[in-house]
Amino acid sequence: MFQSIKHIVFPHACVACGSRLPNEQHYLCLRCELQLPQALMPTGIQPLEPVFWGRLLLQGAFSNYHFTRGSTVQKMMHTLKYGGDPRVAYHFGRQFGLRLKKLAEPPLIDIIVPVPLHPKKERKRGYNQATWIAKGIADILEVDVQQALERVEHKKSLTTLNRIERWKQSGELYRNSGIDITGKRLLLVDDVVTTGSTLDSCGNILMEKEPQALYIGALAQAMKRY
Ligand SMILES: [Zn+2]
Repeated sequence: MFQSIKHIVFPHACVACGSRLPNEQHYLCLRCELQLPQALMPTGIQPLEPVFWGRLLLQGAFSNYHFTRGSTVQKMMHTLKYGGDPRVAYHFGRQFGLRLKKLAEPPLIDIIVPVPLHPKKERKRGYNQATWIAKGIADILEVDVQQALERVEHKKSLTTLNRIERWKQSGELYRNSGIDITGKRLLLVDDVVTTGSTLDSCGNILMEKEPQALYIGALAQAMKRY
């Protein structure tokens, strides 16, 4: 709480450690930037891909950073989500886009689809971080962002359920919004992947509309699967 207030009062502060930034430095101080554990591989199998093996038929899955508890990335993701400033998510989306563009085989995409946030949560936070990450990537790759998925109201809390139950339930949390994605190449985007169950169910719902290809992009990927 204190952390996010501080960022609003002093916007020119490092989003991970809160230290004052020199004018030429944006969002991250040099020290934090050097600490970011890069996850994206220039070529070959991406570290995020095995998470979805046997669960979802993908053309590729990309994450930009590794995420561990207490790390610079965790602090950065916290500010990005709760800091009240969508420009932070947009900035890191652009960084991700720049790296995706430099891959030996960059993903060929028509539409970027963000994982939707519950409308109540979105009103409270002021924005959906996944949408702004998507916008950042989209500007670099010169493609459109489309809200092809929407949330469905649900009563049961997901946190009290085990992994299988959660997977079943989360499938009912989302639906296709009616935007035409048939025959399109999609990049489904979220901020952080832990178990992959959200992206798994969102991806399977998008597949019902028979897109030509489905890719997944997450800004950060948890090192431990639980
Ligand atoms: Zn810093």
